[in-house]
Amino acid sequence: ARTIIAGNWKMNHGPKETQQFLSNLSDKYFDKPNVEAVVCPPFISLPIFQEKVPKWLSSGAQNMYFEESGAFTGEISPKMLADLGVKYVIIGHSERRGLFNEKDDDVNKKVRIALKYGLIPIICVGETENERDNNKTFEVVERQVKKAICDTVKETLKCLVFAYEPVWAIGTGKASSGKDAEEVCEKIRGVLSSMGDLNQANEIPILYGGSVKPENLEEYLSQPNINGALVGGKSLDANSFSELLDLA
Ligand code: 13P
Repeated sequence: ARTIIAGNWKMNHGPKETQQFLSNLSDKYFDKPNVEAVVCPPFISLPIFQEKVPKWLSSGAQNMYFEESGAFTGEISPKMLADLGVKYVIIGHSERRGLFNEKDDDVNKKVRIALKYGLIPIICVGETENERDNNKTFEVVERQVKKAICDTVKETLKCLVFAYEPVWAIGTGKASSGKDAEEVCEKIRGVLSSMGDLNQANEIPILYGGSVKPENLEEYLSQPNINGALVGGKSLDANSFSELLDLA
């Protein structure tokens, strides 16, 4: 699978700060075959991002609704994102699941309509600390993966990206060890290959997310089933983001 280093800005960087980020990035040309750089700004910053982004950097949204249009006050549709030329969309981030009550079924609806509009979903899965302590990690992640892609056609498997983000490691500085993350990512690949076939499953990038920084990125990238990172805090600043890219 290809390698992806994706930044999730969460609720940070409005249009002005987005422009600033891109101008700080302007002398940091990045071109490595097989490594893709992605940034997911807030919706309101996506138009300016699309306008100013260098060719070597791809864009993503952090969420979207699962309908095309209509009376859904405050929501953004997959069609709007596709019209803007956005390439990726993060779906089922643990903050969406935890703070905004998104269920596996919502995640599934979003994945299916994202694929319909040619957006590449970055599907987030991961256990809470309590689930890990109760040895439920594999069970939870398997359920999240299966439900996220149920009723999608086999041929679309190759259009997916997964991110394993243990909830206890997000924004806490308590990153998972490379070995523990690998174990879960291997499990995810196993589930995917049981739903399609091994060749297809091997082509799906599986990213690790949760307190990724320049000091620990290589530990993840050296694992056989980890194909990149989904980065929060360290993606906000052009210098630290490009430092991560240089390490990939
Ligand atoms: P941090 O890198 O800030 O821990 O955030 C991870 C994350 O949630 C990315 O989606």
